[in-house]
Amino acid sequence: MHTKDTGLATRCVHAGELNDTNGSPHTPIYTTTTFKFDSTADLLDVVEGRKAGSLYTRYGLNPTIRALEEKLASLEGAEAAWAFSSGMAAESALFLTHGRKGIVCIGDAYGGTMELLASQLPELGIPTYFLLGSELDGLKTFLQQGAGLVFLETPTNPTLEVLDIAAISDIAHEYGALLAVDNTFASPMNQNPLEQGADFVIHSATKYLGGHSDLTAGALMGSTHLLTPVWPWRKNLGTAIAPEIASLLMRSIRSLTVRVERQNTTAQALAEAMAQHPKVARVLYPGLPGFPGHSVARKQMKGYGGMLTIELKGGYEDAVRTVDRLKLFAIAPSLGGVESLATMPVTTTHHGLPPAERARRGISDSMIRLSAGLEDAADLIADLEQALS
Ligand SMILES: *Cc1c(COP(=O)(O)O)cnc(C)c1O
Repeated sequence: MHTKDTGLATRCVHAGELNDTNGSPHTPIYTTTTFKFDSTADLLDVVEGRKAGSLYTRYGLNPTIRALEEKLASLEGAEAAWAFSSGMAAESALFLTHGRKGIVCIGDAYGGTMELLASQLPELGIPTYFLLGSELDGLKTFLQQGAGLVFLETPTNPTLEVLDIAAISDIAHEYGALLAVDNTFASPMNQNPLEQGADFVIHSATKYLGGHSDLTAGALMGSTHLLTPVWPWRKNLGTAIAPEIASLLMRSIRSLTVRVERQNTTAQALAEAMAQHPKVARVLYPGLPGFPGHSVARKQMKGYGGMLTIELKGGYEDAVRTVDRLKLFAIAPSLGGVESLATMPVTTTHHGLPPAERARRGISDSMIRLSAGLEDAADLIADLEQALS
């Protein structure tokens, strides 16, 4: 049976793993930077692309990296995947390959993505445009001006806004543009953007795919013809993943489905408990029936994810006091690990934005973003309740 025909949990365990001659059920770590050949003719077969083979680790032509990439592609039902040293490395290579005619970013995006799009890429003469999720009418104008790549995250950080991938991909494709979706928040367990019409999926594998807050990595998935031109950019920017990290990431992906299933359940329980709390004004979580993005989330997501944001009735000081009193939740940015984390967007991810821009994006001073870990939901709820009291 080919792993392509199996369920996600089976693919997480088995896809891509090398058939090791010593009988290891897992792919060994090839730390070598170079690989030898029996003859010049054999070497030229690989160098000139007639045969797949290992050559040089920075090129990604290393058995451990290739095995990981096969697993990554299978997670999103993609033809191909490239593994990178970080999520930002994956985004940079994508933008430099396919974004040169202009990139439209819809909705909120990760801080590093925003900085790259707003500051660095324009320095290279790459036009970049920004729209809120509520300003989709403006998308056509930018596409008519020649933008060739549309980029979005869904659900977004930190307001968990849900953007309609299928609807946006239709608009992009009508104008000959490509759609890239950063699927980090949902993870392949909860959402597969390629099925909804996206051309690329990006993951910061640092988050749910890694899952233990102990590695930094990134992934880009898509069709072979679109990923092939990205390869020389990764090669010569020197941003391929290291074999040691590739192995650690494969180790983590094997347990992705059980982790995320638990994180989905816990986040739903936290959201429901916080929605009842007298000190909480609003809970932003796609799994709550009253949440504005709920119906689109039901259509395009298989689960609602492990991330939620609570907005307190009080102000900034109340939120700081609450976060500082948490005992189980750690005060830290990042997400997707086995340990629960709490962060105030205004102090971390969106600290650099002017207050008026934060307000325009619906980000308030009393918001606390929570990443559900693998602790008991009852303990996490008790921790939030004591911190709020
Ligand atoms: C963390 C993150 C990134 C950047 O990933 P790194 O691995 O830190 O480079 C990109 N997008 C999202 C949504 C993220 O959460």
